Amino acid sequence: MPRIHENDKLFWRGIWVLAESAGNRLHPVTLELLSRARRLSAGLHPVEAVAFSDVPESEYPLLARFGAETIRVIPVAAPGLFREEERAEALTRLIGKYRPAILLAGATIQGRSLLPRTAALVDCGLTADCTGLEIEPASGALLQTRPAFGGNLMATIRSDSFMPQMATVRPGVMKADPLENPVPPRILREAPLPPPESGSWKEVVELLRDSRDAHDFSSAELIIAGGRGMGGPAGFDLLRKLADATGGMVGATRAAVDAGWVPYGMQIGQTGRTVQPKIYLACGISGQIQHRVGMQSSGRIIAVNRDPDAPIMELADVTVVGDVFTVIPQLLNLLQTRGRT
Ligand SMILES: Cc1cc2nc3c(=O)[nH]c(=O)nc-3n(C[C@H](O)[C@H](O)[C@H](O)COP(=O)(O)OP(=O)(O)OC[C@H]3O[C@@H](n4cnc5c(N)ncnc54)[C@H](O)[C@@H]3O)c2cc1C
Repeated sequence: MPRIHENDKLFWRGIWVLAESAGNRLHPVTLELLSRARRLSAGLHPVEAVAFSDVPESEYPLLARFGAETIRVIPVAAPGLFREEERAEALTRLIGKYRPAILLAGATIQGRSLLPRTAALVDCGLTADCTGLEIEPASGALLQTRPAFGGNLMATIRSDSFMPQMATVRPGVMKADPLENPVPPRILREAPLPPPESGSWKEVVELLRDSRDAHDFSSAELIIAGGRGMGGPAGFDLLRKLADATGGMVGATRAAVDAGWVPYGMQIGQTGRTVQPKIYLACGISGQIQHRVGMQSSGRIIAVNRDPDAPIMELADVTVVGDVFTVIPQLLNLLQTRGRT
């Protein structure tokens, strides 16, 4: 794949958002990014969604409702099979042909694997895991903000020396804002991809396994998260029981993921997911900064910890000082009793 060195900014126009689907539905981060792309464009740049053909056509009107004026569809040989080499090459080809100024994707498992590969092929920069995006008025450059140095400061990065400007953005940090009067989008179908010559199928299997384990926290109203204090996989079974009884989803700290108790898809924090549920119940979690950056915007935070001085207790709206193996069974009992009355 030839690298693209044409870098005269005048030739680069448009904001592209990579559309991602989770099952038969669009991933909510796509709608968040389209809404932000509309704001960034301020009518100067066309806003386009780039959709591999496994994004269901029934979701195209939703792309338009959140701001896609054009939908570029790239046919894939095996829909649903995420083969990143193949997709990165297709995106690179499209970038070389149409020269978008900005390409945005969700900091999801797919976005995090596809965009770095594409940026390397195109030979441009990429800011991963952004939490803020603005346009610098004087230059028109994309200002990309993300936590740095363990979340202790926010860095604003510009990468317009080599086009396009690419960023992945954390799900849940930008607002999805529908248009009142969307216009029907132009739908442009690109040429199909050539069949893969060779492939690391091990990589494909790993990606599929990762995405199976991935938790889509974006619509969760209640997250019950466990940390090292849950003691092991059995502790997480207890949290799953509580989640079943309340309709919540179970999340985890990196300590629990690194211990192999739960899969990475459940990790919340700087190197995991960013979540914003109405209620976040933190069980046996100390509340280190790297965890807090992923959950501190939750509506109400409840912490259960046997250490009254744990940092999470300061952040929490409601604190319960006690052992999780006493408090959670009590909570389950209470819910069951209430359910019967
Ligand atoms: C670059 C970098 C990125 C990172 N990214 C992330 C990230 O994305 N997400 C993340 O979570 N961490 C991340 N970390 C790790 C982070 O610094 C902490 O180590 C981690 O969050 C601690 O997890 P924890 O709270 O489960 O464990 P601990 O800090 O060990 O806390 C366990 C808590 O459980 C309590 N406890 C123990 N037993 C019980 C019991 N029976 N009942 C009640 N309470 C009990 C203890 O009092 C303690 O407060 C990152 C670190 C680095 C350096």
